[in-house]
Amino acid sequence: MTKKFQSIKGFYDVVPERQKLWRFFEQQILLVLDQYAFQEIGLPIVEPTGLFVEGVGTHTDIVEKEMYSWEDPLNQDKLTLRPEGTAGCVRALIENSLTYNGPVKLFYRGPMFRHENVQKGRQRQFHQLGVETFGIDSPDADAEQIVLLSRLWKNLGLSNIRLELNTIGDPIDRKSYRELLIKYFEDNKSVLDEDSQRRLYENPLRILDSKNPTMQTLLNQAPKLIDAISADARTHFDKLCQTLNAHGIDYVLNHRLVRGLDYYNRTVFEFITNDLGSQGTVAGGGRYDYLVETLGGNSTPASGFAIGIERVILLLEENSSIQNNTDPEVYIVNLGDKARLLAFSTAERLRDNNIKTSLNIEGSSFKSQMKKADKSGAEIALIIGDEEADKNQIQVKFLRNEGLQCAIEVENISRYIKENL
Ligand code: ATP
Ligand code: MG
Repeated sequence: MTKKFQSIKGFYDVVPERQKLWRFFEQQILLVLDQYAFQEIGLPIVEPTGLFVEGVGTHTDIVEKEMYSWEDPLNQDKLTLRPEGTAGCVRALIENSLTYNGPVKLFYRGPMFRHENVQKGRQRQFHQLGVETFGIDSPDADAEQIVLLSRLWKNLGLSNIRLELNTIGDPIDRKSYRELLIKYFEDNKSVLDEDSQRRLYENPLRILDSKNPTMQTLLNQAPKLIDAISADARTHFDKLCQTLNAHGIDYVLNHRLVRGLDYYNRTVFEFITNDLGSQGTVAGGGRYDYLVETLGGNSTPASGFAIGIERVILLLEENSSIQNNTDPEVYIVNLGDKARLLAFSTAERLRDNNIKTSLNIEGSSFKSQMKKADKSGAEIALIIGDEEADKNQIQVKFLRNEGLQCAIEVENISRYIKENL
């Protein structure tokens, strides 16, 4: 049978089985964000196209080829489905004067949209959780975010993620480095692939993170940005490394790490796993001290990162030790008209007492209801027939304990279950 409608390429449903992992991720990250006192901000999914052109940068993959943009037929506004969250967060910061009383630490979450080649771990609608610190120029703001992420991976039970770190200095440092790099690439032009030749004068730094195997030797031997940065930028980086060392955070210095968005300066970092093929970056971020000003606000130092949630979910999926905590605790089996009424009110009574309860409302045979109770993941099945209803009693069956069974008065049922769960 051909289906009438299908989801469009790169846009996915999250079926309930998977949603459990999303829940687990959300519970853990929210806990950690609370521990570090970050506050949530809600942001729109549609923004003016110019926000991303100016914020993310004209010569980036996102602006060059990945945005879903259109013109509003009513008023000709140029609009875009947000491809990332930082630009919108900065717009909101300025619009709501959020730094009026000093530094703020924010996070946002939700879907992002990029028109790119669909692969495992690369969708067209995907979800990010982003964290931004505004108003703090100290390297400790960068360190705090990195330490937070390390704690998150640990709490999620994910161990196979490494931290790669680099500094890209300030815009003024990059100007002279850019010339140096262009010269180096010009001298080796025959080794550059088509994409890199196109980028040579627009965005030569981006060539550094090319994965093309034939260019690796050339790129590894390229002049290093870290050798071209100012003393201040260097001190910032050294302090960051010191703090990470002092907290036992392992990292790899990767002088070719530049990140795909134009707004970064000084610190850039990525958390990468080898378990997801070439879509291995699960979170990335860095410092962007010039973006708030670029978008019309007062000069405000800032750093931030975004987690690619789908990639974390893929990792969690391979890690079977995760406890599924959305199963019901109690499953109610019932047969007969009187039993049906008692079962319904008992279910409500249990929920009043915060017991997760699944009530059979399909009315199938006793045998099939018992099968469903077993499959539900519940610890306890309550069995109610008309006979029990007449006596105001309920049969309690412990599903994981060799089927131990007893009869309990309706009035005592919540207390009994609480004592025995
Ligand atoms: P990549 O190099 O994989 O394209 P990026 O540099 O474009 O990543 P960022 O813009 O820094 O990614 O976004 C932060 C994180 O969001 C990424 O590290 C990744 O985990 C996730 N992400 C980015 N694009 C996608 C996508 N199309 N599908 C799923 N996750 C994505
Ligand atoms: Mg990308």
